[in-house]
Amino acid sequence: MGFVVTIDGPAASGKSSVSRGLSKLLSVPWVSTGAFYRGLAYAALHSGIDLKDKVALTELAMSSEWRVVMTDEKTQVWFRNNDVTSEIGQEQVGNVASQISGYPEVRSSLLDSQRQCAFVGRGLVAEGRDCGTVVFPQAEVKIYLTASSEHRAQRRAQELGLNQQDLVAQQKQRDQQDSTRKVAPLQVPPDAMVVDTTEMTLEEVVKKIYAFAIERIRQ
Ligand code: C5P
Repeated sequence: MGFVVTIDGPAASGKSSVSRGLSKLLSVPWVSTGAFYRGLAYAALHSGIDLKDKVALTELAMSSEWRVVMTDEKTQVWFRNNDVTSEIGQEQVGNVASQISGYPEVRSSLLDSQRQCAFVGRGLVAEGRDCGTVVFPQAEVKIYLTASSEHRAQRRAQELGLNQQDLVAQQKQRDQQDSTRKVAPLQVPPDAMVVDTTEMTLEEVVKKIYAFAIERIRQ
């Protein structure tokens, strides 16, 4: 297993774009761990599973009905041999992902596959909510990305062509749910560098994190 850079943060804080940029500069793969929760949420919604049935969800998590594939551009999700990567980006899927990610059984059933991603290249950039705290607590570099809730909603509204005001409310609810759950809540890892991206361009954020990461990895 090579070095690991973790990037955690709330909804729409720019984790995927930053991870993609950073992985290019570091020449290592990147993974959105959110894709595992979104993928499972999507698979559950399309299998008619009761979203409160933890046993059925855990079985589905382990099944070959769906899988996650890392690519340079995106973390893809395949369901029954169909690429559903764009479908899992919908806010509704994100909200269900947030709901089922509160179950400890579901979280532990996805943990192994997330960790396996670190064995593909000579390093890994992993983004999500608990990458620096639970998935890769020994990571060499830990980042916590944040931005004002208006800025994050604006970003996501542009991406999805949705109403910004509706998104502010939905994201607040999802962040609240993600930060207050009992297992692996969204929190700043104690040894993380916090980057507030509200007033920064994507290039500036990637450059800053790259400089920090290179210094840490060389140590
Ligand atoms: O990052 P993304 O918006 O794709 O994540 C969707 C949901 O998956 C989050 O709101 C969160 O509930 C869950 N998640 C998680 N732990 C992670 C990544 C995502 O609980 N490491």
